Amino acid sequence: MIDTGRADAVSRVVYEPIGVCGLITPWNYPLLQASWKVAPALLAGNTIVLKPSELTPSTSILLMKALEEAGLPAGAANLVLGTGPEVGAPLAEDPAVDMVSFTGGLDTGRRIMATAAGTVKKVALELGGKNPNVVFADADFETAVDFALTAVFLHSGQVCSAGARLIVEDALHDRFVDEVVRRARRIRLCGPFDQRAETGPLISAQHLAKVEAYVAAGLAEGAVLRCGGERPDDPALADGHYYPPTVLDECGQDMRVVHEESFGPVLTVERFTDEDDAVRIANDTEYGLAGAVWTQDAGKAQRVARRLRHGTVWINDYHPYVPQAEWGGFGHSGVGRELGPTGLDEYREPKHIWQNIQPRPQHWFRG
Ligand code: NAD
Repeated sequence: MIDTGRADAVSRVVYEPIGVCGLITPWNYPLLQASWKVAPALLAGNTIVLKPSELTPSTSILLMKALEEAGLPAGAANLVLGTGPEVGAPLAEDPAVDMVSFTGGLDTGRRIMATAAGTVKKVALELGGKNPNVVFADADFETAVDFALTAVFLHSGQVCSAGARLIVEDALHDRFVDEVVRRARRIRLCGPFDQRAETGPLISAQHLAKVEAYVAAGLAEGAVLRCGGERPDDPALADGHYYPPTVLDECGQDMRVVHEESFGPVLTVERFTDEDDAVRIANDTEYGLAGAVWTQDAGKAQRVARRLRHGTVWINDYHPYVPQAEWGGFGHSGVGRELGPTGLDEYREPKHIWQNIQPRPQHWFRG
């Protein structure tokens, strides 16, 4: 109920389902990505059509079975399987679909937005990132090194929020990068059934070739290879698409490997001189998904966090997500938010209902 200041009227806003929601998800973290859409869409009273990535559909199939077993009415949750052009695009185009919520790459997001424009349906996009990890000289050294590694090499860098751009204060650079490189060389790259695995393969041969091409482009543009940079020669890894943790030092913002998303285990390193310089470099991206700042100066941490044009900023941490807080991107990292109250609102139509409880003529027009 809203207080309108008028005794003769009652005003309230109610939230209604949008209708049929098309949910299109990527291949990385497939169950998590589907859950982040399926749960709020159903909770808000919509029906859904989920289209998982053709590369990783299995967990979505199991999720649908679980929903059925839980007693969801028939037809409320639906699954369609296939490639993007064959199945995803028709979903975005279909006039019976009222909203498309998409997570995936920037180019696909652009296509979906254009396709959805034909029927003026609501679009929510969670796209890529080229995320800065800013380390000041007064950061806790050991912890910042440790997190610089997990920020980018976790899941072989196949994470939208990967901290792939390490931006280090000049005074700390040499010591910090030496330690990152020493530890990156020791990361155990193994097959998925090997208990010793610390990180694993890339999704496909095509993706491996893309990551290699980004490293080659970086080296051609003047980056200095500090570790990794070629396929492992371990015969145990011959059957998969493996690429080792790779550190490219002395990078600059003009390099493709710095500003485009490689989505692989590739860390680029840049230096900064002061707070303004750090913020300038961190924000110099078309994306704006996530980033981190490392310093023991609480005031500086808050100042930098507020100046970063990214949807999530971690201070002295990297990668935590909580369902209570919004997730999503500034700039080309997306439109709308997942999680948090705003994430639920993406799937609801607010409606204002005004009721005049003492209706009588107004005589605006005299006649
Ligand atoms: P992708 O864009 O290739 O595919 C994503 C989904 O879109 C798949 O289901 C695919 O079949 C479908 N698709 C492809 N073409 C389509 C079309 N024309 N119309 C409709 N649907 C179409 O992305 P990907 O390679 O599966 O995933 C990796 C990307 O996802 C990276 O860029 C990563 O940053 C991004 N991502 C973002 C987040 C986030 O929260 N912002 C989370 C995970 C992944």
